Amino acid sequence: MSTSIEDLLFTIRYRCDTESHLVITDQAVCRDCSKPCLTFCPAEVYTLRDGEVHVAYENCVECGTCRIACVHRNIEWRYPLGGFGVAYKIG
Ligand code: SF4
Ligand code: SF4
Repeated sequence: MSTSIEDLLFTIRYRCDTESHLVITDQAVCRDCSKPCLTFCPAEVYTLRDGEVHVAYENCVECGTCRIACVHRNIEWRYPLGGFGVAYKIG
């Protein structure tokens, strides 16, 4: 029996900060980009809303992919502050 990404994500626990630990530096850069972030993030953190890239940082599993895969280095990336973020207690 195989386990889907959705099943695995369901096993992760989150404690969300009120401030995002992921920030798009310049939305103008995103407009001229092929937007690979819409597909490379396993947690679907990046989505398009009204033509702008929206960041649902609350769902981030801190894999670090966007830190290196944003083709324009247009994402400010840091770990959530101490006490916040994901806990892989079950997954
Ligand atoms: S990959 Fe980077 S530059 Fe391109 S749309 Fe996503 S955040 Fe913007
Ligand atoms: S660190 Fe991973 S899960 Fe978090 S936003 Fe980037 S690609 Fe998505």
